[in-house]
Order: sequence, then C-alpha cells, then structure tokens
Amino acid sequence: MRATFPHLLHLDIVLGILYPTLGVEIVPPPPITSRTIEIGVEHAPQNACFPLKVTLGNFVEGIERGADTVFMAGGVGPCRFGYYGQIQKIILEDLGYDVQFVLIDHPRFGWRPFFQALKTMAGGRFSFPRVKKAVSLAWKALVFTEELETQRRALRCQVVNRAELDMVIDGALQSLRKVESGSEFERIKKEAWSDLSALERKKENNFLKVGIVGEIYIAQETRINFQVEKLLGDLGVYVHNSVSTAQYVLNTFPVLKSKEKLEAWELARPYLKRFVGGEGIDTVGSTIRYAQEGFDGVVHLYPFTCMPEIVAKSVLTQVSRDFDLPVLHLAIDEHAGEAGLVTRVEAFVDVLERRRKYWKKAEGE
Ligand code: SF4
Repeated sequence: MRATFPHLLHLDIVLGILYPTLGVEIVPPPPITSRTIEIGVEHAPQNACFPLKVTLGNFVEGIERGADTVFMAGGVGPCRFGYYGQIQKIILEDLGYDVQFVLIDHPRFGWRPFFQALKTMAGGRFSFPRVKKAVSLAWKALVFTEELETQRRALRCQVVNRAELDMVIDGALQSLRKVESGSEFERIKKEAWSDLSALERKKENNFLKVGIVGEIYIAQETRINFQVEKLLGDLGVYVHNSVSTAQYVLNTFPVLKSKEKLEAWELARPYLKRFVGGEGIDTVGSTIRYAQEGFDGVVHLYPFTCMPEIVAKSVLTQVSRDFDLPVLHLAIDEHAGEAGLVTRVEAFVDVLERRRKYWKKAEGE
C-alpha cells in the first residue's frame, strides 16, 4: 500500500512520523500550488466547497506520484462535509484512477467501520502496542507543530528580526520530518524553545491583538489563506488562532471534548443554540472569548459558500455590535486574489489603530 492524503498545514510531517512506524509507505502530495487548485476546480462540481477542490487536487497529485491508496476523513454534516469523501471517491473513479479510497468516517456512524478504517490505515495489522507507539509520537508531533505556529503568530510582532524567527521554526519543522524516536523528538523540542527564547525582542509591548476564527481548512492552511497571519504579524499585530487540528481530532471523540470547545459553545449559546456544522458555533464562541480577553479585532476566515460560516457570519454582526469588536470577514475560494485581501487586511489594521488612539484620547491617557 502506498497512501496519499490531503494537506492541512503540517499534517504531512505528522503522518510522515506515524506511517513509517506502522510500516505503511506514504506518498505525500506535492505542496499546494496553483496547479493543485486548477486540478480540483476542473474536476469538482462548480459549487463544491473550496477545501473539497483543493484536497481533490492533492489526491490527483499524490496518485501521479505513485500512490495507490487515498486516506480521507469523513464528516457528519449537516453541512457538505457529510458527503465530501464520497464525492471525491466518485470523481477519482470517473477520472479512471484505480485506487483504494479509505474514508475514516466519524465514530458516530459506528465504531466498527471506524476501527475497520483505522485497521486499513495501519496496513491491516492492528497490533495495539505498535499503533500506540506510533500514535503517541505522532500526536506529540502534531501538538508541537501547533505550538510552534502559535509562537510564530505571537512573536512575529515582538521580535527584532523576523527572518530569525522563521529560521528557528522552519528549522524545527524540518528536523521533525526526520525524527525517529522519542528522545530525538525531545531534543528538537528543547532546542527550538531555547532558540525561540534567545531571540531579541522589541522594547514596546503594546501591540494590537487580533484573533483568527473560522472554518478549519481556510483558517489553518497558510498556502490557501494567503498567509494572513504572517501579513498581520508583519504589520505589527499580535495574532492568535482559535482553530486547532489537534483539538479537532480530540473533539471527534465525545468523551475527549476539549475545555476550549465546551467553553466556546457555552459562550455562543445566547446567539446560536444549534449545531450548524463545521466550526460555526466555535467561530461565534471564540469571537466572544476574544472580545472578553480584550482583543482589538477578529479576522473571520471561511470558504466562499460555506454554510456553517455563513450562519456564523450573520450572528457575528450582532456579536460585533454587542461587544464593540470589529470583525473582518474574508471569504476565500479559487477566485480570491492576494492583492484585494492584503488591501482589506491593511485597512482593517488601520481602523484598529485609530480606534486604539481614539480610546486612549477619550480616557485621557
Ligand atoms: S464546513 Fe463549510 S467548507 Fe467545510 S464542508 Fe462544511 S460547508 Fe463545506
């Protein structure tokens, strides 16, 4: 079995650790480029969600590299994620690709098919100690990659030399690609934290603070969202992203629901009581949390036509008024252009700066 999978930020690093330990060969798709998007757009239905198109492009490019199996996560709806995998499977068949499509459906559809899919993904050999060892290291790596990106967002506005910051983080990510043991992993982690803490910081610390909310794929995948976090950081903004792949994985299991998720849902309750699919409720709850934590603004990232985020967007209009918190909505699809996005983000930061000055003056500081 030679398996390929969709890109999602550093998922290729995590799966690159997981699968060789399980004895499964993986064929990562090449990094997302305009070709990936063109392939997806050409073969997917026109009104399909943008992430479906990009991940379809990943599959085709992975198959072109020699993959004979595709791994894809299934969804529960009520949005279109409920039939993503099935559509992609049919499209690949129509294109004449003779590949095994392994869909890891949500356990709510039954634990038996869920474990069956995991067993296939583990190369048919579900030896508990082997899987435990592989999953444990891969999980630590996933959490660590997210911690590194959290640091990158937070420190970009604070460090004197941003290139050094990128060098430390990208260097740690590269080293992770070759990691084979727990001790090696710990060494990389220790070195990265020590290098990060040694970076020279600016004297000021009164940065604008912006939170990122939205649909997981667009909010996380920097090759699709035009690196909006980097852009904000370069404009001198402290950035925090409420969306996390590790939490998404945990929240798949009802008993493991994370504290952040439960809190966000509780905060959103006065505005949105029902599950609307995807990250709709989380978007609302996280925006309220950012308002309570004194953030200056929120950037809402979502795929154009994403149903849960369109519901969230309409709710956020009221949330923004109630908490006096500016929210910038950025819908992204294959027609989105970088120049327009950059202009909107720059104008948004301008507004936030003026508000800060206005309130300082009003408070007589
Ligand atoms: S969350 Fe949005 S983008 Fe994702 S599948 Fe649902 S509708 Fe599509």
